Amino acid sequence: EPGLYIVATPIGNLGDMTLRALGVLQGAAMIACEDTRVTGKLLKHFGIKGRLQRLDDHASPETRTWIIDEARRMPVALVSDAGTPLISDPGYRLVREARAAGVNVVSIPGACAAVSALSIAGLPSDRFLFAGFLPVKDKARSEALTGLADVTATLVFYETAPRLERALLAIAELWPDREVAVARELTKLHEECRSGTAASLAAHYAAHPPKGEIVLLIGPPTDAEAPVLDADAMLKAALVDAGPG
Ligand code: SAM
Repeated sequence: EPGLYIVATPIGNLGDMTLRALGVLQGAAMIACEDTRVTGKLLKHFGIKGRLQRLDDHASPETRTWIIDEARRMPVALVSDAGTPLISDPGYRLVREARAAGVNVVSIPGACAAVSALSIAGLPSDRFLFAGFLPVKDKARSEALTGLADVTATLVFYETAPRLERALLAIAELWPDREVAVARELTKLHEECRSGTAASLAAHYAAHPPKGEIVLLIGPPTDAEAPVLDADAMLKAALVDAGPG
């Protein structure tokens, strides 16, 4: 079937490749990818010969138009280096323009680091806000976090190992009481998920510098942070207003 297939690939463990993903990549007339070497290796592992076309964040509008034209006539796949395309990865413009052009856009779901981390962190998972990568600079990072202070949901970020400690210190300053979790190297040999206060995690990772890929999660606001509403005083005031003389 012609169309644009958005195909998730593993985030470390090749066993997480899905049967549908293999079938679609096998049958795709073209596979758009971030890095042809990375995707080439993945395809080789599974014995798939694909026609690769690079499509990263800097792709020209003409490249996208051309890919969309191909997807009108034959099956075209989009993959990223790891995990689900468009989730802190390229593809948003391509999907948007393909849909606008009436091309069938099909999801082939699979691994996604944010969702995997949320599924094991033990933080509230009924509401979450995925906010991608935090800014690198201290001031911008703190501002970004402050902007999310009132969100009553678990916050999920992608982070890199060299920046983890500074991010945790910034969180400790803003929200000393919140429960924080660090999910590292998901699906890989050294997978770990640690939780605690941001300060305790910062101390841990200062002593044990982390390696690898990281998802950072912050629990929703605690009672200690909730604006103090004096319910008694409000009730009394209301009763006085309504009461007889
Ligand atoms: N599209 C991908 C997905 O669906 O998860 C994410 C791509 S983003 C460019 C890469 C970031 O995802 C890494 O810096 C890290 O924060 C996170 N990540 C990817 N693989 C991971 C893993 N195995 N364990 C923990 N975090 C991972």
